[in-house]
Amino acid sequence: MRKIHQLTFANRYARLPEHFYSRVRPTPLPAPYLVSFNASAAKLIDLDAAEAQRPDFAEHFSGNRLPPDAEPLAMLYAGHQFGQFVPQLGDGRAIMLGEIRNHAGEHWELQLKGSGVTPYSRRGDGRAVLRSSIREYLCSEAMHGLGIPTSRALCIVGSDEPVYREYAETAAVLTRLAPSHVRFGSFEVFASRGQQEHITSLADFVITHHYPEFAESPDKYRLFLQAVAQRTAKLMAQWQAVGFCHGVMNTDNMSILGLTLDYGPFGFMETFDPGYICNHSDPQGRYAYDQQPQVGLWNLACLAHALSKLVDEPMRDEIMESYAPTYYQHYLNLMAGKLGLTNPSMADFPLIEAWLELLQRNQMDFTLSFRKLGDFKTAPDADNSRIRDQFVDREAFDVWAQDYHARLSNENSDDQARKVSMDAVNPKYVLRNYLAQQAIEQAERGDYSEIDRLLALFSKPFDEQPEMERYAEPPPESARHIVVSCSS
Ligand code: AMP
Ligand code: MG
Repeated sequence: MRKIHQLTFANRYARLPEHFYSRVRPTPLPAPYLVSFNASAAKLIDLDAAEAQRPDFAEHFSGNRLPPDAEPLAMLYAGHQFGQFVPQLGDGRAIMLGEIRNHAGEHWELQLKGSGVTPYSRRGDGRAVLRSSIREYLCSEAMHGLGIPTSRALCIVGSDEPVYREYAETAAVLTRLAPSHVRFGSFEVFASRGQQEHITSLADFVITHHYPEFAESPDKYRLFLQAVAQRTAKLMAQWQAVGFCHGVMNTDNMSILGLTLDYGPFGFMETFDPGYICNHSDPQGRYAYDQQPQVGLWNLACLAHALSKLVDEPMRDEIMESYAPTYYQHYLNLMAGKLGLTNPSMADFPLIEAWLELLQRNQMDFTLSFRKLGDFKTAPDADNSRIRDQFVDREAFDVWAQDYHARLSNENSDDQARKVSMDAVNPKYVLRNYLAQQAIEQAERGDYSEIDRLLALFSKPFDEQPEMERYAEPPPESARHIVVSCSS
């Protein structure tokens, strides 16, 4: 484990020519203090957790003091935002200090989010508020706990500096880590300018460092695009299976590595509703829960278009056509696993669909319903009333349960073993908006303990944590209508 000054920077992105970024220094954050530190993410970069106790820790992770080997830069990209192409975006408030190489030889890009204006800030102030930093911090770690690919979060540093959104809030800097923050939009920006040489350079860079298995292939660009499509399809299936709604699936928020990236107005579905919209700024529901898989494909088509000189049309078409089958295969495996089926086939879709319809009709909590179903018993005289009584329409449950029972009997499913396997894939704890909100409200009063409590809770979302039982509860009536929007 290393001290802050021992972190080894190996800046690969900064070796690309300056068409790909702008060199920029973080704007000092007045009187920064540590809000929360995540020891689990610190391990990724070999950072000694005891370093968080240093009085000057916040100086380092606010951007006020830079390591000698840092080469701070803001990445350039474009993107389709709600369907409209915006020719130039870029990191408007995130600054990458560099890449840290750990003892295992892995590289982690270290980004400070909220560290001041960059050449890409447009009219923004380059800052992030404490509220949205806490949401990203908790959610990236909650996604990681669920086993879903995501950028990670190392720490939050706060300041009393006011930041104006709908009302005055305070500033914070979130340090996030990812092997790469390159987005679909990182390619689109050069495609729209007709700068093919930069598209090729960036593709070569990403393949060399992040898809090295293709680097020597004469077919490397096709293999790369295909791999991004497969990872995206899998990621969408994983989001659907936990009821995660990203909220702003613009192409500038789509990771070239298939990571969940750029947490804004996200939400975990509570009452099951396929049309659930988590983002108050998306009244049309372009990014509603049930739209996500096809938006993933739409976004891939934008990437494929940007790579059109590297991958010919029939190959691009083939890749796009393989997206849906890949997605459905992952989705089937995940959903069947959630129902405790060990040998799923396409024939199981009606049972899965009927279960979801039952949840929707009865306005059931998505997370809790799957978790509770793990207690289902198959013995002829078994009492499943504790599951059944959750439903308003109990007869409808009985009809479904009969099919479920038959399907389980088909594979001689063992009740106990099934519960164990279901509990391992059906989380008990997800980051409900009201839980994040409680942590935010306490933090805004200067008490950060709830952030740390939630961080620990969501690192083990599948475990029973008896003392944390109340965190599994659906939101109280008063908190059902928390609104989250793009403002952050
Ligand atoms: P997002 O919707 O958070 O993915 O952001 C879209 C674009 O706006 C990105 O280029 C961001 O860097 C930029 N942006 C968002 N908030 C700010 C801000 N407060 N200051 C400057 N740029 C911002
Ligand atoms: Mg973004």
